[in-house]
Amino acid sequence: MARSALSFALAAMMAPLLLAATPHPSIPASVVEATVARIVAAHGAVAEARAHRGVTQVAQRWFASDGDAAAFTAFCADNFLADEVALATNFARLETVLEQVDGHLLEVRRMLLTPQDLDTGPVSALDLKLGDVDLGAHVDDDLFGTKVAFFALLNYPVNTLSERLAEGGAWSRATWARSRMMDRWAARVPAQVAQEVTKAFTAADQYIAGYNIQMNRLVDATGKSFGFPAGLRLITHWGLRDELKSHYGEGPEGLAKQRAIQKVMERIARQEIPKAAIDGLDFSWNPYAAAKPGEREPDTRYAKLLGVFRAVHAADPYCPTAPTFIQRKFELDRQIPEKQVEQLLVSVLDSKEVKDLAAVIEKRLGRPLEPFDIWYAGFSSRAGKSEAELDAITRAKYPTVASFQAGLPEILTGLGFSSEKASWLANRIVVDPSRGAGHAMGAVRREDQSHLRTRIPVGGMLYKGYNIAIHELGHNVEQSFSLDEIDYWSLSGVPNNAFTEALAFVFQARDLELLGLSGADDVERRRNAALNDLWSAYEIGGVALVDMGVWRYMYAHPEAAAGELREATLSIARDIWNRYYAPVFRVKDVELLAVYSHMISNGLYLPDYPLGHIISFQLVKQFRGRDFGAEFERVARQGRLTPDAWMQGAVSGPLSAQALLDEARAAAAVK
Ligand SMILES: [Zn+2]
Repeated sequence: MARSALSFALAAMMAPLLLAATPHPSIPASVVEATVARIVAAHGAVAEARAHRGVTQVAQRWFASDGDAAAFTAFCADNFLADEVALATNFARLETVLEQVDGHLLEVRRMLLTPQDLDTGPVSALDLKLGDVDLGAHVDDDLFGTKVAFFALLNYPVNTLSERLAEGGAWSRATWARSRMMDRWAARVPAQVAQEVTKAFTAADQYIAGYNIQMNRLVDATGKSFGFPAGLRLITHWGLRDELKSHYGEGPEGLAKQRAIQKVMERIARQEIPKAAIDGLDFSWNPYAAAKPGEREPDTRYAKLLGVFRAVHAADPYCPTAPTFIQRKFELDRQIPEKQVEQLLVSVLDSKEVKDLAAVIEKRLGRPLEPFDIWYAGFSSRAGKSEAELDAITRAKYPTVASFQAGLPEILTGLGFSSEKASWLANRIVVDPSRGAGHAMGAVRREDQSHLRTRIPVGGMLYKGYNIAIHELGHNVEQSFSLDEIDYWSLSGVPNNAFTEALAFVFQARDLELLGLSGADDVERRRNAALNDLWSAYEIGGVALVDMGVWRYMYAHPEAAAGELREATLSIARDIWNRYYAPVFRVKDVELLAVYSHMISNGLYLPDYPLGHIISFQLVKQFRGRDFGAEFERVARQGRLTPDAWMQGAVSGPLSAQALLDEARAAAAVK
C-alpha cells in the first residue's frame, strides 16, 4: 500500500445530490464568445484558438459567487497570457508555489496524525481532535476563491486522455508538465456535493467493516458444526477468502469447510443471508439453505452501492472533461481507456496459459476443480524454511526500528544499487514504528523525506512484517527517484496506482534473497511465483470485469432500485463466469465473483490489482540480466506520463500481459 499525498484532486473528483441551492456554472455561450472576441481584439487572431479554449474552461467552472458576466469577461481579458515567455514564467511560479503548499500541508498532516499512525504510546483525547484537522481539504477551494485556479484554467489546457494519447508522443517534458498540473482543476465540485460523496463512501465502508461472520455458528443441514474454532470472526470478503485458502491440503474436513465458506459467500452476494447472521454471536445457521422470507438481510449491500453511485453521479456536471465516474476512474485517475483495460484483462482470462495452469492445479489437488479454487493457494514457497525459522532470522537481524533504518544501505546494495545511490536513498527515507501493518508515505516537497512505516514488536521484526517492509521500501525508493530526481515537479510520481504497486512487488519478491536465503531453489520459487501470479490475475481479472459491468449498468439504469441492482449484479457475475471460468471449471452460473467488498466501498478500484500483476512482470523481464539499480532508477524517474508512454519508455513496448503469460507458460511446462 502507498499512501498518496495528492488527495486534494481526488477528493474534488468524488461527489452527490444536485440540490437547487448547489452552485453551478452559468456563464452563457454568448458571453464566452464576446469574451474571446475581446481577447482577439487585443492580441490578434493568433490568440483565438487558445483564448477560446481557456475562456471556455473558465466558464465551465465559474459559479455565480465568482462574479457576474461582466466580471467574468474582465477577468479573462485582464489575465490572458499572449506569449510563450509569459506562459513559461507563470507556469514555473505556479509549480514552485504548489510544491511548497502541497508539500508543507502534507508535513503538517503527517505531524497531526503521528500519534495515531505511529507506535508512540497512548493516543490522548487531544490527539484524536488534532487528527481531525485537515488544512489541505480547503486548498483547491481557496485556489478557486482567489482565482488562482481560474488564472491557470484561462492559460493552460485541461487535456483529455484522448488528446494525450493522440498528441502526447510529440510533446516536450514541459508540455507534459503543464498538462499534468492542470489535472487538479479538471473538476470543480461544490463542497456540498463533495461532502455527499464522502458520506456515501464512508457509509459503504462502515457497512463492510461491520460485516463479520461468526464461523463457529455455521452448521450443516443436520445441525452439525463445521468445526471452525470458537471466536473466529471473519470479515467479508477478505477474512472469508483467506480462511478458505488456509484449508488446502487438509483432507475431507478441510474441503467441507471450504465448500461451506463458498456457500456463505454466495448467500452474501445473493442477499439470502439471515440478517441475524451478520456479526451474530449466538445465531446458528446453515449456509446451504437460503434465509426464510422475513429473516433475510434486506438488499442493504446493493443499497450502499447505489448510495455511492448517486453521490458520484451528482458530481458529473462539475467534471467537463470526464463527465462520468467511470471516465474519472479510467481517464483521469488511471489514464488508460476503459476498453483497453478490458482487453488487457480478457487477454489473461481467455489465455491458453490459464487453461494449462488449471490442469496443473487439478492434478495437484487430485480432484476436479470447484468454483472456490479460484483462490487456490498452493504455489507459495519459502525457501524450504518454516515461518518460525524465518521469524528467527528477521528478529535477530532487525531487533528494532533503528536497526532497520541502519540496515537500509545494505538492503539497497543487496538489491543492486551502487553504494553511492544506496546511501543517497537511505538518507531520503525515514523508518518509523507503525501501529498498523505498515505503509509508505511519500514526500511531496523535494526538501522533505519519505517515510517507511513498519511494525517491529518487542523481540524483533517478524518475517511477515519484514516482507511487507521490503514492499514498502520499494514504494519509498520509487517515491525518491520520481520526486527528487524529477525535472518538473508536476510530473512527479508514476502514471497510476498499479505502477507504484508493480514496482513495490519487484522489491518484495526479492525479500528472501536479501536475507541470504537464495540458492538452489531460486528457480523453483520464481516458477511458483509466476504460476501464483497468473492464477491471481485470472481470479481478480474476472472480479474487476464484474465491477466494471456493474458500473455500466448503474449508469444505464440510474433509477434502478436495490433489488434490481442485485439481480443485475448477479447476472453480470454469472455472465463473466460462464464466459471465462465455466470452460475451465466445467460448472456454469456461479456468482462467486460478486462477493468482493471493494465493489461496494471502493468504486472501481479492483482493476488496479490485475494491472499491477501485468506491469510487474513486464518490469521484472526488463530488469533481468540488466543493472537492476540503474534500470529501476531510469524507469522510476520518467514521472506521470500516460501508462502507455511510460511503458514505452521503460520496456520499449506497450502495456501487455505477454510477459506474465510467457513466464507462467514456461513454469507450467516443468510442473
Ligand atoms: Zn503497496
